[in-house]
Amino acid sequence: LLCNMIAVVTGSNKGIGLEICRQLASKGVLVVLTARDEERGLEAVKSLKVSGFSDVVFHQLDVVDDLNSNMFRQPQQVNNAGVLGSGVKAEDRKNFSYSVEDHLTEALIPILEQSSSARIVNVSSTLGKLKFILNEKAKKELGDVDGLTEEKVEKLVEDFLEDVKNDLVETKHWPPLFSAYIVSKAALNAYTRILAKKYPKIATNAVCPGFTNTDINDSTGIFTVEEAARGPVMLALLPDQQRPSGCFFFQTEMSTF
Ligand code: NDP
Repeated sequence: LLCNMIAVVTGSNKGIGLEICRQLASKGVLVVLTARDEERGLEAVKSLKVSGFSDVVFHQLDVVDDLNSNMFRQPQQVNNAGVLGSGVKAEDRKNFSYSVEDHLTEALIPILEQSSSARIVNVSSTLGKLKFILNEKAKKELGDVDGLTEEKVEKLVEDFLEDVKNDLVETKHWPPLFSAYIVSKAALNAYTRILAKKYPKIATNAVCPGFTNTDINDSTGIFTVEEAARGPVMLALLPDQQRPSGCFFFQTEMSTF
């Protein structure tokens, strides 16, 4: 049992996030289940407790809000912390899913860096792969691993939103369908690579859970949440001796960005 580990899971009152909490708790990890809505979050914690998982605590966290500076700053809580960004639907800049980790890592990295086995897992999507980004500037910049910076990713997202506003999605070759979601996941993937390079002590990876039966797709997905959570959980618990960082996984298998 991994009793000395703590995992903070964002957006985990339902769907894959909740299942990630359940699987981590079943392995003895102390889980901080976070949700933007307190009632839904507490309800989710209750459901896990009823199933026998007592080491689950709740923290209200809307990933769109700036983090309250001191909320996770108790070093003894995070010696072996893992952070799971289970994400948001992206409708506007504020809801861009890479901002989840943007905010959360800002608050957690100083603590994670003190640990020898910290992990950050960004729940991303195959849809964010570079092959779906046809806008040439974006493709070039996001694909240039060595030249990637947070500022560049931020600027790309701003440009994309400007193009949406000016009805230039088609003209500028952004994805015609689910464009905000795709661009946000591509940005999250890029951010994953940036973090991995910037913080070599922390294993930071992105993972697509697969097309999963949850509310995000009106329950049309083909995988169960149990199957979908396996990859993120595996990456949160990577052993120290074998820890890829800056990689993209499809479920439990390593893939390409
Ligand atoms: P769900 O819709 O079931 O769950 C999404 C979760 O994110 C909910 O708990 C929701 O909370 C929460 N959330 C949304 N906005 C915010 C916010 N601003 N702050 C905090 N939490 C928020 O979706 P899934 O479980 O399927 O999705 C989990 C992750 O997996 C997402 O990142 C998604 O993009 C990714 N993914 C999912 C796939 C699938 O087929 N299901 C495929 C590929 C990737 P609330 O209940 O309050 O809305």
